[in-house]
Amino acid sequence: MSEAEEFNKVRRILFSTFHKGEEGQEKAFQYLDNYRKKLSRSSYIGLKAELNFYKKYRKEFSLIVAADVGDHTDFSGLLGGKPFRLDVTTNADYKQLKDYEPLQRDDEKYKIAIVTLEGEIEDLVDINFPFCPECEEGRLIDTAILLPENYNDKGDCLWSNDQVLIGVCNVCHYFEEYDRISTGGLFDFNTELGNAYDLYEAKFGNLPRSDEAPIFDEHKIVLQHSQHIIPYLNKEFDKTLMALGGTAYTVTDLRTCDGYHCTKIHWRKDLKLLDEYVLDEYEIDLFHD
Ligand SMILES: [Zn+2]
Repeated sequence: MSEAEEFNKVRRILFSTFHKGEEGQEKAFQYLDNYRKKLSRSSYIGLKAELNFYKKYRKEFSLIVAADVGDHTDFSGLLGGKPFRLDVTTNADYKQLKDYEPLQRDDEKYKIAIVTLEGEIEDLVDINFPFCPECEEGRLIDTAILLPENYNDKGDCLWSNDQVLIGVCNVCHYFEEYDRISTGGLFDFNTELGNAYDLYEAKFGNLPRSDEAPIFDEHKIVLQHSQHIIPYLNKEFDKTLMALGGTAYTVTDLRTCDGYHCTKIHWRKDLKLLDEYVLDEYEIDLFHD
């Protein structure tokens, strides 16, 4: 028997045991522990987490155990009255968006539940990114763009910055603007970095280069700014942002400084399946157009 067959066999026994009478639940966990040595470590952890997850959440999500027929669905369930397929894992690094695409093209909705061994949900990720209507190949990923400070026609600073929610395609850079808000004091990345550098210079600018003057850590400032504002933006946009970016200018001719306005991504949700779906740069200009 292959490892996958063994896994499926044990999984079937576990869940049918679970449903047998009052002692079923306890017996299912006992069965898994008795079987532990015959399973790979990864299979054991996966099954234990799935069983714990089912025990914890089966009522909340009206879970139904799915038969493993290669559709990457461990359970089907209901959330807010809407049906969805659920893939449960303790490690989302091995999940690939492409694996879900055949059924997603049929409008099936998927979520990935990232859980602990005890079955506790760490993250419930909605992976139903719309297919791009332009190229029909890429996906539109929820991304927020922080824009520079607003000015009126006379050039007066208006003391506010806009934040734009877009869905952007990883293949052809097609995008749709979903929402736009204005928040005073929520700076774009360039302003935030500039302010941080001014502070750094005021603090360390006159010191000789030594241990006393740490290097200016741009990456850290970008990360802090992102982590600070993402909860606010998720709430305002009523979305779970996958990426966060800002406007940029890419120079193509160093002699004349000619180039183009674009959008650079500064932060991305820590989810490996986004690797190919969130790019470093998009040929999009949300500020000057
Ligand atoms: Zn596209």
